[in-house]
Amino acid sequence: MIGRGWRLPFRPFGVPIELDPSFALVLPLFAWLIGSQVAAYAELLGSLGLELDPEPLTRGATPWLLGLAGALGLFTSVLVHELGHALVARLYGVKTLRITLWFLGGVAQLDDLPKRRGAEAVVAIAGPITSALLSLGLAALVRLEGLADGAAFVVSYLAITNAGLALFNLLPALPLDGGRVLRSLLVFALGEERATAVASGISRAVAVLLGVYGFLTFQVFLLAIAFFIDAAGRAEVTAARARRAFAGRRVREAMTPEPIAVDLAWTAGQLRRLSSFRSHAAYPVTSVDGAPLGVVRAVDLDGVDDATSAADLMRPVEAVRADADLDDAVRQLASTAAGRLAVVDPEGRLVGLLTKTDVVRWLQETARDGGATR
Ligand SMILES: [Zn+2]
Repeated sequence: MIGRGWRLPFRPFGVPIELDPSFALVLPLFAWLIGSQVAAYAELLGSLGLELDPEPLTRGATPWLLGLAGALGLFTSVLVHELGHALVARLYGVKTLRITLWFLGGVAQLDDLPKRRGAEAVVAIAGPITSALLSLGLAALVRLEGLADGAAFVVSYLAITNAGLALFNLLPALPLDGGRVLRSLLVFALGEERATAVASGISRAVAVLLGVYGFLTFQVFLLAIAFFIDAAGRAEVTAARARRAFAGRRVREAMTPEPIAVDLAWTAGQLRRLSSFRSHAAYPVTSVDGAPLGVVRAVDLDGVDDATSAADLMRPVEAVRADADLDDAVRQLASTAAGRLAVVDPEGRLVGLLTKTDVVRWLQETARDGGATR
């Protein structure tokens, strides 16, 4: 759903941060939205007991600078919220692959769901708790003497926004934190797949309510969030089904066994002749003792000289044991550049290849067999 974006040059706590292209649009938009509402916000803050003179705050370029500071602070707040998830996930031994900021906020992409029951709830609740603590800290900061009106404005705006962030994320809708807490607790009573189905039903109801409310009040942003919750909630159900299908299964069950392997001395010409009668998307290259060295993909043969050797054509390929968990291999498959894994026996000899197509075909076959053949 979210594409690769621009990577920040620093990694807080070792977690890579990416900015989605949509973020570039939304930052100035938020700066403008906040800037154009400075007088209204100042009035609101006045009713909360923080007296600010709105006149100097709305003069010249000041509101736009306040808006920019507010927007940057808002996205920093989202980032801190996501880091809250990432650090607690780390306590359970789960790595965060990246945190992406996009126009609907932030996403911490975890390497895996924490395996221990109830852990998902703890990781999920860490985000809103982080935001709530940040809100309290900022609210305390506003009370400091000698804070300039402009700074007091931005800090109190962020205190309120972080409180809102904590509350909004507690909505019981997947993929929001509240939905994850709900699902994780339901697992105790219903098991994973059933819990996800129930949590996703509740999510859809929340999404519909939010969508109707956003529509009636002309809040496009809420409408977008409602659609996002609806789509992401359904994706969670599919993911839970796939996890259940993979549970306890081995790589050997889904791989293509005994692929046609070649050695380093093969040439592009020979590979072309081979592919004309045994057409495959890729040919693994093995050493004399059968260990995988790389793969030559059929597309790599396009336009190369007949004499080019397999050694020059091949690309590196990651290996996976035939008796490894299919679940882990699928994750490895998703991140490997070669698009396939070399499956090896305990002695390190090539016994198969595993591609995404193999996994999809295997899933279809198990679904057809009722998935009950264990
Ligand atoms: Zn969160």
